[in-house]
Amino acid sequence: MATTLTHSYNPYDVAQRQFDHVADILELDTPTRDLLRVPLREYQFSIPIHMDGGGVKVLRGFRVQHNDARGPSKGGIRFHPQETIDTVRALAMWMTWKCAVVDIPLGGAKGGVICDPHDLSPREQEQICRGWVRQVSREVGPDIDVPAPDVMTTPQHMLWMLDEWEVIHHRHAPGFITGKPVGLGGSLGRTEATGYGVIFTLREALRQLGIATDTTTASVQGFGNVAQYAIRLYQQLGGRVIAVSSWDQQASTSHVFKKLPRVDPDELLAITDRFGGIDVAQARARGYDVLPGDAWIEQPVDILIPAALENQITADTVGRMHAGVRVIAEGANGPTTPEADTVIQERGIFLIPDFLANAGGVTCSYFEQVQSNTNYYWDKDEVLGKLDLKMTAAFHAVSEMASTRRLYMRDAAYVIAVNRVARACRDRGWV
Ligand code: NAD
Repeated sequence: MATTLTHSYNPYDVAQRQFDHVADILELDTPTRDLLRVPLREYQFSIPIHMDGGGVKVLRGFRVQHNDARGPSKGGIRFHPQETIDTVRALAMWMTWKCAVVDIPLGGAKGGVICDPHDLSPREQEQICRGWVRQVSREVGPDIDVPAPDVMTTPQHMLWMLDEWEVIHHRHAPGFITGKPVGLGGSLGRTEATGYGVIFTLREALRQLGIATDTTTASVQGFGNVAQYAIRLYQQLGGRVIAVSSWDQQASTSHVFKKLPRVDPDELLAITDRFGGIDVAQARARGYDVLPGDAWIEQPVDILIPAALENQITADTVGRMHAGVRVIAEGANGPTTPEADTVIQERGIFLIPDFLANAGGVTCSYFEQVQSNTNYYWDKDEVLGKLDLKMTAAFHAVSEMASTRRLYMRDAAYVIAVNRVARACRDRGWV
């Protein structure tokens, strides 16, 4: 699949540099810095699977728990051929800040398996899910650490993981994992939550900037879960997405699909595979211009929504951003490097940082946990209404911090989040 990950880019370095920067702003003491700039716990393990064609393949799996001072740690599991422990560390750290910035009582964790589900049958994937749980079954649980889906993992994967955990522990515990299918402990609204959350914060940003949403256009990188629902809600609010991009598995490259006056997410979805890859020939047949994958960033739009992978707006690409871009809403985790951040700040572009913009997923996962633990399920309007309230409140807390202390939005979000986690560590007497 997918990726433009390069060996020189290390997301953990980025996460630590961002943390060091905010630790300086907050003048954190040395023990608190030492505690928060690395994970509390890490598990690395092997998962043997019996291949359909015969033979055994041994995969590497990870679980990193960055911090749980504010509650059980929480974070997704990614299946990716280029997964690394440092990527998982960075994502675990970002989860801690994400839960803290939206003020939900959870810590941060992340997991992964180095594999490519494109090349694996359902039976092989089930073995990976069950094998992952077996390796960390004592270290994860409803009141310890709660996994969830992420890149290339699905509700079906979560259900296999839940089943394995329940078999091992001899009890039903749907609060062990989130992102489950609706009807089997899943929450209505979870599928929409991350993408909608991005747009709830974007809606507030545009209001604050005095820009009417229905006058704006956007370019979106990615057409997976986050991007699809972000596009839908943004267009319902009157905005126009003119370009989306996706990864072409067969050609091992990405493409941009452009259509004026706007793309049609239903039309694109009908020609998209289950990993979010849009079929090039069918898109052309439906009147889309197909451009090279990195062209998403240079579109003449008001809003950019990176919603694919980390390390996409970099020192190399940031200069190609169109002069008209006024807002960047980071749907993906870690899409922007610190070097590119400096340029964005200098250009006065309003940034909604990743761990605020895409916190809708974990917020809804928290709602799912609450529902699963109480065995009482809410309707979709209730879930999405509560989500909107949380995201809107978090956005305004961050933007108020940014204007009061004259901080870049990313720094303001970090100040709020790190402060909350540091306080929890101090209050518990850890530092
Ligand atoms: P997904 O697997 O559903 O979709 C990923 C999309 O990105 C696909 O359309 C794929 O084709 C595309 N893509 C991959 N590499 C690309 C490239 N180099 N150029 C262009 N397109 C590319 O993943 P998702 O769940 O939508 O997650 C996207 C991002 O959002 C990730 O960074 C993830 O960590 C983050 N995120 C997801 C959630 C969630 O709830 N799904 C929550 C928070 C953050």
